[in-house]
Amino acid sequence: MAGGAVTRFAPSPTGLLHLGHAYAALVAESLAGPGRFLLRIEDIDRDRCRPEYEAAIKEDLAWLGLGWPEPVMRQSDRMEAYRKALRRLAPLTYPCRCRRGDIRAAMSAPQEGAWPAGPDGLIYPGTCRGRSLTDAGPDDVIRLDAARAFDALDLDSIAFQDQAIMPGHDHALTRDQFLEGIGDVILSRRGMGTSYHLAVVVDDAAQGITLVTRGKDLFDSTYIHVLLQKLLQLSTPFYHHHRLIRDDAGKRLAKRDDARAIRHYRDDGATPQDIRSMIGF
Ligand code: GLU
Repeated sequence: MAGGAVTRFAPSPTGLLHLGHAYAALVAESLAGPGRFLLRIEDIDRDRCRPEYEAAIKEDLAWLGLGWPEPVMRQSDRMEAYRKALRRLAPLTYPCRCRRGDIRAAMSAPQEGAWPAGPDGLIYPGTCRGRSLTDAGPDDVIRLDAARAFDALDLDSIAFQDQAIMPGHDHALTRDQFLEGIGDVILSRRGMGTSYHLAVVVDDAAQGITLVTRGKDLFDSTYIHVLLQKLLQLSTPFYHHHRLIRDDAGKRLAKRDDARAIRHYRDDGATPQDIRSMIGF
């Protein structure tokens, strides 16, 4: 991108960084070019996030040779911004008290044992859709009424472009495809005051991110983010969904794969260059 881009690496401090995170961070930094590479700590899940992991993340990234401007944005400091966005979206939202078991019970029996799920989990069948925010209980989540959102925008599809996957081509989803394959996404999770989707959209805009780089596993979530950007009148950045680093069995690395933690390789005497070579960077 001429003049460079503003990119970010946005880890959740729920464990040690592994090779997949190293790859994601290096992609974000390299694609910023002469622009800016930012770090954002995504710690809205207070039960799972730990300050010692945040410290370890910064330490491992610095060891890899990455630098970023301080202060670092931390999502737990941003609750007022999420509340404001939720208030703006309020006319298109409703409280939902359904638990996973209720949702399954309301859905038809799955074929071949797999419940229909999209990037936000089970496709919500709409049981609570008629409820009003004024009778929201403390344990309710807040959902977006996706059909009303499309109607409010007068849109019959949404689209974005990806620099890594079929560049120059529009990745589009019609209203019906969105309703069937994604549905009424959660904007505020129980006890959290926001959700991943809402927080990421609000924060990418607040940080002036022009190029969102992240793993291909989040590709389908981007349709949700583009819809939220339109509803909140925020511009849509460019996207680059990169490949995932997999283990020898072809499985995507997860936080629990401690053997692949950067820390583990460091303790065994690996250099930052060794890590880069392992992930083909
Ligand atoms: N916090 C997310 C993760 O740890 C990344 C979110 C994003 O890049 O949009 O996978």
